[in-house]
Amino acid sequence: MLVLGIESTAHTASVGVVDETAKVLALASSMHRPEHGGIHPREAANHHVDVLPELVGRALEEGRVRPSELDAVAFAQGPGLGPCLRAGATVGRMLSMAWRRPLVPVNHCVAHVEIARVLSGLDDPILLYASGGNTQVIAYARGRYRVLGETLDVGIGNFLDKLWIEFGGTFPGGPALEREALEGRELHPLPYSVHGMDVAFSGMMTATLALRARGVPRPDLAYSVEATAYAMLTEITERALAHLRGEGVVLGGGVACNQRLQGMVRAMVEGRGGTMFAPPRSLCVDNGAMIAWTGLLAHRLGVHVSVAASGVQPRQRTDLVTTPWRESPAERRVAAAPPPVG
Ligand code: AMP
Ligand code: MG
Repeated sequence: MLVLGIESTAHTASVGVVDETAKVLALASSMHRPEHGGIHPREAANHHVDVLPELVGRALEEGRVRPSELDAVAFAQGPGLGPCLRAGATVGRMLSMAWRRPLVPVNHCVAHVEIARVLSGLDDPILLYASGGNTQVIAYARGRYRVLGETLDVGIGNFLDKLWIEFGGTFPGGPALEREALEGRELHPLPYSVHGMDVAFSGMMTATLALRARGVPRPDLAYSVEATAYAMLTEITERALAHLRGEGVVLGGGVACNQRLQGMVRAMVEGRGGTMFAPPRSLCVDNGAMIAWTGLLAHRLGVHVSVAASGVQPRQRTDLVTTPWRESPAERRVAAAPPPVG
C-alpha cells in the first residue's frame, strides 16, 4: 500500500510517499524563508503554490512511484495558517480527482505523534510537540489524542524566532540561538512560567529583552533562555509521564531537534525508567511523510473525505479528530454509542 501526503500548514511545503511498513520512499520539502521578520501567511502560501507541483514530481521520481500505484492522497487539514493550508489542500484535491484516488484529511499534530510512534516502536508514548506555532504535551486516551498541556501564549518556536529577530538576526531563530547558547557562560534568572500543565513565554521575552538592553551578552541570554524554557517543557512532560505511568516520550516539531532539549527530556525520562525517542530531523520538522503515514492509517479504515467536504480547518484541535486506528474494539463501541442522557 502506498500513500502520498502533502504538508503545508505553515512555512514548509512538503510531499512524502510511504508504504504500509512506514518506509519513507520519498520526501521532497521546501521551506519559505522570509528575508526580514517572521512568516507572513499569504507570502508563505504563495511559496507553497509555486513549489508544490515540482515537489509532487520530485517525490514521485525519487520514490520511483507511478500515480497509478498510489492508494490514496492525504493532506494536512489543520491546524495551521489558512492560506497555507488551502494551498496544500487544493493540490491534494486536484491530485485525488486526477488520479481517482480517495482523499484523506489528516490532523497535523496527530501526524507528528504517529510518525514518531511508529519510528520509536513505542505503542503508547506521550508526545512533546515543540514547533514554531505549537507547544503541546499530547497523549492518547479513550478514542482520541488529548492535549494535556500547552502554551498559553505563543508557540516556543515563534518565541525563539521573535527573540532572535529582536537580537538582530533572521528567521529561523531556534537553530541560531542553539549555536549561540553553546558559548553562554552565565545563567540569568528568567520568569519560569509553568501553570499546572501549561506554559507561557511572553514574560521571558520581556525579561530577556530588558537584560539585553542592560548589556548582558547575547550568548548568556541564549543559554539562559534555553535552560529556562526547556526546563519548563521538561517539567510538564514529566508530570504527564508520572500521571499516565507512561512507557516513554517521543518528540516532534522543529524545536524538538534542539540537542539541549533532547538531553533534558532524555535525562528525565530515563531517570524514570522510560524510553525517549526523537525522530531524525527530516521527520521531526513539518514533513509530507508524516501526513502520508497518518493518511495511510486512516485510509486503511476507510476514513476519506469528499472534495466538497474537504475544507481546511485552521483551528482544528487535536482532541476534536477521531483516530479509529488506535481504538480497541471496546473503545470503538463506546465512541459509536449515543451520548448518555441527563
Ligand atoms: P516546525 O514549525 O515544526 O517546522 O519548526 C520550526 C521551528 O523550529 C522554528 O521556530 C525554528 O526556529 C525551530 N527550530 C528548528 N531547529 C531548532 C533547534 N535546533 N533548536 C531550537 N529551535 C529550532
Ligand atoms: Mg509541525
